[in-house]
Amino acid sequence: MLRSVQHTLCKVFCWRSIIKKMSLFIFLLTVKHPLILDILCLFLQVTCNSFTISDGEMQDVGVGLYPSMSLLNHSCDPNCVIVFEGKCLHLRTVKEIPKGEELTISYIDVMMPTRQRQNQLKRQYCFTCDCHRCLTGDKDKDMLAGDEQASKSMEMALASLKELQSQNKVLAMCKALLTSSQLPDRNIHQLKVLDSAMDACIKLGLWEEALLFGLRTLQPYSLYYSDYHPVKAIQMMKVGKLQHYHGIFHDAMVTLKQAFNVMKITHGENHTIMKDLTELLEDCTSAISASR
Ligand SMILES: [Zn+2]
Repeated sequence: MLRSVQHTLCKVFCWRSIIKKMSLFIFLLTVKHPLILDILCLFLQVTCNSFTISDGEMQDVGVGLYPSMSLLNHSCDPNCVIVFEGKCLHLRTVKEIPKGEELTISYIDVMMPTRQRQNQLKRQYCFTCDCHRCLTGDKDKDMLAGDEQASKSMEMALASLKELQSQNKVLAMCKALLTSSQLPDRNIHQLKVLDSAMDACIKLGLWEEALLFGLRTLQPYSLYYSDYHPVKAIQMMKVGKLQHYHGIFHDAMVTLKQAFNVMKITHGENHTIMKDLTELLEDCTSAISASR
């Protein structure tokens, strides 16, 4: 509990790094009006303690305050995850937790090398993570596999990719990057380009290409996300849906079942997304039976 309180206080009062970047608030501080200071304090508390609300596909849709959840500490290999159903936050355990062990969640996306995770945690929450993954540099070599310069170039290209508005341009750039790349798919920068290519194809209705890109992401996702992680399950579900759409029902069944087994733990059997998944699985079963 003490660590929780310390970290929470740190989260609440890690205002210095924010203020440095916000000349407006420095101005407000000089005003020294009690009301303005109250508003400033409130703003900083919201900034440090809010949770990003995501939809069924883990896309960000808003921000909410859940005071009791703000007491949870961070680990890069947490024993709990947070999923949403509408605005309702579900805290779910994803590991066997011995009696007395602290509950943890990850404040950030864990698909980043140690240094990048630590920088983000320091910048955003003002603490240095000392979990076993950070202490051992777990999976850093895989995440940055391949030629160092090529990996850095891919990372820079990824930043330019995010600036593009047109999905056709995004897809063209992804294809050019992936064609010339010598990096393995487990390199996280390459993996993010694959992800962008799949999303662009889905938005453009290019289902076959989307499936080819999506299939390449599954193994690296399993490598970087723990056995029961909602992001991994959603990725499996996306690929399973594409297989289902293509009428590859046997493959779809396998992928969707894998997603189902993860989501039973990460989302719970009563979550809305499980109903969609069950319908897809039933559809696959009927299609396979009909083809015999
Ligand atoms: Zn850590």
